[in-house]
Amino acid sequence: MLVIAECRWEEATNVRKEMRDIGIKKNVGYSWVAVKNKVHVFQAKDSSHEMNSAIQAMLAKLRGEMKKAGYVPDTNLSLFDLEEEEKASEVWYHSEKIALAFGLIALPSGVPIRITKNLRICGDCHSAIKFISKIVGREIIVRDNNRFHRFVDGWCSCKDYWDLAADVPSTCVAILHRCLVRVFTWRSLTVRDSGSAG
Ligand SMILES: [Zn+2]
Ligand SMILES: [Zn+2]
Repeated sequence: MLVIAECRWEEATNVRKEMRDIGIKKNVGYSWVAVKNKVHVFQAKDSSHEMNSAIQAMLAKLRGEMKKAGYVPDTNLSLFDLEEEEKASEVWYHSEKIALAFGLIALPSGVPIRITKNLRICGDCHSAIKFISKIVGREIIVRDNNRFHRFVDGWCSCKDYWDLAADVPSTCVAILHRCLVRVFTWRSLTVRDSGSAG
C-alpha cells in the first residue's frame, strides 16, 4: 500500500512538473503526447490541431473497429474526477482519445505511445484504450495525475484496480456508514423487541 501511495505521489509530482513546463492551467483537462521533441497538447473536443482531419479519420476508423470488437461507450462518469467541460462533452471526444489518435498517426509503428493527462483518466477512456491497444497491436502508456497505466494487447497493468483504489477514502466512508446504519437498526430493533416483551 505504501509503495502504491509513493508511486502515485511520484506520478502526481511528475505530471505537475510537466504541466508547469508546458504552461497549462491546472483545472482544465488536457492530454499531451511528444513527437520528435515537440509536445502536442489536446483538450476534449479539440479540433485545433493542424492534422485535425487525419485525427478525426483515425478516430472514426478506431470507433468502427472497436464497435466490432464489442466496445460499448460508458457514459456514466458521475463517479470520476472530471472537469465540468469534460463531463459535458461526449466521452468519445475526451482529450486522451484525441491524443492517442494523433500518436497513432504521428509516431512510427512499433513505438509505444506515451500520453500524459493532468486529470484522472475516466472509465470509458480506460476501457477504450484497452480495446485500441489490442486492435492496433501497440503498447500505450498513459500517465495521469493519479497513476501509470500500461496497455498491452487489451490489458492494462493496473488490472482495473485503479478506480477502486483511487476511491479508497469514499469506499471506507460508505462501508463505515453501512455498518453504523446496521448497528443502529439492530439496536432499535432490540430495544423495541425488549420493550414489547416487557
Ligand atoms: Zn475519458
Ligand atoms: Zn489502467
